Formats: sequence, structure tokens, C-alpha cells
Amino acid sequence: MKKRIIVVGAGIIGSSIAWHLAKAGAEVTVIEANELGGIATRNSWAWINASWGNPETYFRLRMRSMAEWQRIDREVPGLNVDWCGGLLWDLPPDQLEAFAVEHSSWGYGIRRVNRAEALHIEPNIKQPPDFALHVAKEGKVEPLATALAFLAGAEAMGVKVLHNSHAKWLVEKNGRITGVCINEGVLHADEVVIAAGAGASTLLKSIGLSFDIGAPAGLLVHSKPLGEVLHTLLMTPELHVRQTSEGRLVAGADFSGSDPADDPQGAAAALYQKVQDMVIGAEQVEMDFHTLGFRPTPGDGFPMIGRPQNCEGLYLAVMHSGITLAPAAGLFATAELLEGKRDPLIAPYHPDRLLNAK
Ligand SMILES: Cc1cc2nc3c(=O)[nH]c(=O)nc-3n(C[C@H](O)[C@H](O)[C@H](O)COP(=O)(O)OP(=O)(O)OC[C@H]3O[C@@H](n4cnc5c(N)ncnc54)[C@H](O)[C@@H]3O)c2cc1C
Repeated sequence: MKKRIIVVGAGIIGSSIAWHLAKAGAEVTVIEANELGGIATRNSWAWINASWGNPETYFRLRMRSMAEWQRIDREVPGLNVDWCGGLLWDLPPDQLEAFAVEHSSWGYGIRRVNRAEALHIEPNIKQPPDFALHVAKEGKVEPLATALAFLAGAEAMGVKVLHNSHAKWLVEKNGRITGVCINEGVLHADEVVIAAGAGASTLLKSIGLSFDIGAPAGLLVHSKPLGEVLHTLLMTPELHVRQTSEGRLVAGADFSGSDPADDPQGAAAALYQKVQDMVIGAEQVEMDFHTLGFRPTPGDGFPMIGRPQNCEGLYLAVMHSGITLAPAAGLFATAELLEGKRDPLIAPYHPDRLLNAK
């Protein structure tokens, strides 16, 4: 008999998990409190990478997920992963070199480039760096369209998707999670997956579990569309900027955006000025709008993925870098939920390390 699984949350993580579960034969219902496509997801910069600042174990997980994006790109109709590469100089030269040495030894395809080579890759930067790193295998997606493509693919395989449907609490019977309460009543299932991003902690509270999760704000600015001026993702000391498939320049103080405090308009205008100072052609277009996303970030910064102890019927998938990690999250959650197999790459990221037990 097919396993009945409820996935709470239709951002990129819930969407990927629902698609993978359906493909593997489960009977899946997705419950989304708001519009489909997530909160963090729709406001993401959406860089697919295994770049600097992480330990090797996490690098390996990210690399695997980057490889899985290639598969997803072939298998999910309507997806378009753009393997545009990244050009990066957002570290002082000695740290850039140390990153290149370390990550090259781990197998990350890094090429050192000088000023002329940087300009060859990106002719439209006003102040090219003397030393930068080019990673051809990094990529980007349009995050909302990607989550919606996962959901459409899942629906085509029979997944039921409910939007504007708030999961109010988890239903527990004899120590096992047996369903979710929504406005219309209780939905029963064999397993409940919480892929609710920053909303996960509220749901867990309903069964007496708590954990440390932050949701830092991230401001990004979007220009009006213009002809192609950038080819790669640019990670510079001043800002991170890329161009979308419809021609908009999207930039943040870095990929994760900055907290604009109480002046988002002012922060957006200042940021957009930097875009215009950096990219030839940007002077010709105005900023169109800015977005403010909230990044679900577990206390130690790493993913929480797995079954909490003493909570049969419950699975948790909450993480930052969810655009990079969505394919791995979908694949590994499905293997664990349907076959009881836990991939070694997610072994360090069991939720119990951060959950306060019941
Ligand atoms: C500014 C910014 C830049 C970023 N840049 C990158 C990047 O370059 N690369 C990268 O890999 N990652 C990046 N991230 C992080 C990445 O976007 C997130 O990790 C990812 O989108 C998380 O996806 P999610 O599905 O877990 O969460 P979300 O997209 O937030 O989706 C969770 C969904 O759950 C729903 N929900 C919550 N509670 C309930 C409930 N009780 N009942 C029903 N539904 C519920 C919410 O409505 C929401 O739709 C960035 C994020 C931001 C904000």
C-alpha cells in the first residue's frame, strides 16, 4: 500500500521533497499556509554553489546537491538551471588564495583569473579585480518558478496541493504523529514532513518541541529588465549581483541580503547606486523594486534534516542554502522516509542536535 505523506510548506524544500516522494510512489498532500512557492524561496538570490566558509563535510553535501541539480534539470519539466558560473573576489587576496588552494584540493573547479581574464568573462564591470576566482560549475535558478515547476511536476504525478491552508498543529496519538490539523479538520497520514522554513518552530511547539532558529532579514534590489550585461554570478566586496532570465539585475550586500533595519527604501536606493557604479549599462535602468526575505537558519547554521527521536511519523527539513540543497533534501528525505535509508552525507545534520527533547 502507498505510504500517505503530508508535506507542510510549499517553498523549494517542501516542493522538492513532494516531487521526489511522488516519483518514488508515495501518496502525497502538500499544505501551504500562503501562496505556493515559499517565503524565503521567492525572495532568494538563488546561487547554486559550494563556495567558501564551510567545513568539508558540508561542502560535500553541497557538491552532491549541485550534481543532483543536473538530474533535476533533466527530469522536472519547465525547469531551467543556468550553469552560468561564478566570478568571485569578495575576500582579501590572501584569503581568496587560501580558499582556492583548499577547495581545489577538495575538487571544486576553481580557476584563478587576472584583470584581463576577469574582463574577458565579464566585459561590463567598471572596476575589474586584479585577482579573482572563476568557478564554471556554479549556477542559478529563478527560485519561485523552480518551486512552482517542482509542484506542477508533483501534481502531474497525483500530488494534492492545498494553498492558503494553514497547518495549525500536529496531531499526536500514543507518541506517534498521525496527522495535521487545518481549518477544515484533521488530515491523517503515515508521515508528516515539516518543510515550513522559519515557520517550523511554531508547528513543533504544538507537540512540545523547541529549537533555536533564526530568520535574518535579507534585502535584495531588482532593476527593471535590460539587455544582457552580465553572464555570471558576481561576488564582489561591495555587493553580489546577477542577472535574471528576464534581464533584471538582482543584487544584495551579499547573496543573503542585508538587514535594512527600519529604512528598507533608503537601504535599497543605496544598494542600487552600487549596482549602477559597478555594472556598465545599469545606469540606463532604474531600480524596479526591492524584496525582503527571511532566511530560515537553524542555530548552528547547518541543515536540520531527519526524524526527531521519540517522534514516530515526523520528519523535519529546515535549512539555509535551500536553493543549493533542495535536490539533495528531496532525494535523501525520500530515501529515509520510504526505505529507512539515511544517506551518510546528511548524517551530521540530524535535527536532534538542536531540538530540545519533549
Ligand atoms: C535574501 C535571501 C538570499 C538567499 N540566497 C540564497 C542563495 O544564493 N543560495 C541558496 O542556496 N540559498 C539562498 N537563500 C536561502 C534559501 O532561499 C532558503 O534556504 C530556502 O528558500 C528555504 O526554503 P524553504 O522551502 O525551507 O522555506 P520557505 O521558502 O520559507 O517555504 C516555507 C513555506 O512553509 C510555509 N509554512 C510555514 N508554516 C506553515 C504552516 N504552519 N502551515 C502551512 N504552511 C506553512 C510558508 O508559508 C512557506 O511558504 C537565500 C534566502 C534569502 C531570503
